[in-house]
Amino acid sequence: MLTNYHSHTHFCDGNEAPEKYVLAAIEEGFTSYGFSSHIPLRDVDTSWNMKKENLEVYITEINRLKEAYKDRLDIYCAFETDYLWSIHLRDELLKKYPGVDYTVGSIHYVGNFDDGRPWEIDGTREVFETGLHQLYGGDIKKVIQEYFNLTCEMIANEKPDILGHADKIKMHGFIDESEKGFTNRMFELLELIKEQEIILEINTRGFYKGYTTDWYPAVRWIKEASAMGIKLQVNSDAHTPAELSLGYEPVFRLLHEIGHNHVWIRKGNTWIEQGI
Ligand SMILES: [Zn+2]
Ligand SMILES: [Zn+2]
Repeated sequence: MLTNYHSHTHFCDGNEAPEKYVLAAIEEGFTSYGFSSHIPLRDVDTSWNMKKENLEVYITEINRLKEAYKDRLDIYCAFETDYLWSIHLRDELLKKYPGVDYTVGSIHYVGNFDDGRPWEIDGTREVFETGLHQLYGGDIKKVIQEYFNLTCEMIANEKPDILGHADKIKMHGFIDESEKGFTNRMFELLELIKEQEIILEINTRGFYKGYTTDWYPAVRWIKEASAMGIKLQVNSDAHTPAELSLGYEPVFRLLHEIGHNHVWIRKGNTWIEQGI
């Protein structure tokens, strides 16, 4: 009963057409699959966000696949949004385009440079260091506070269906994950996720790409979230058809070990629990 609700195709920074992912998903035995292209941004173009002119083409193509493969795979059309930068807020997006099913809300940008371009925290290490020094005077504690301020604001204001890679700010290794300034904000974030009843994904990409030794979020937070009754879901953030279920095995092993026996999956127009 494999599922994945976070993936990128050649419409943004993934490497193949969506149909290749559908065929690979069927081959691997997926039952439910969601595409979540990086939404176009309002005032700026990047190499990883979708181009504005492709937005409707993308929605049309995913909906064509939904229909064409409906007997073999449940397919969903979604966007990974960028708080403060996305071309549409979640609700106006879903209202304007009935073919869109849900959103993954993620923070990739923490402030912007003098020329107006956003600072991406999950690009290269060099870009991370440039932003850290130019925008925050090298003070990682300030970056952490701003990252969590944005994440919490996004959840409160937009209420995405899924929170994407919750602690991605750790990606380049500048964070002391046991430091109070970080852990207090993680606890606060989990409380908000619980209160707003959104889904917390366990994102395996940092792990299988070799950036991190565990997942987004880290094992400690998966255990806390499980104990709090937060809705969990396992996603690969695949950028190629070969990555659809990469890193899943150890996550499911962990969930079994801690006695967490279900994940949240999409069925029709709602999210439901599925035993694992
Ligand atoms: Zn992302
Ligand atoms: Zn993504």
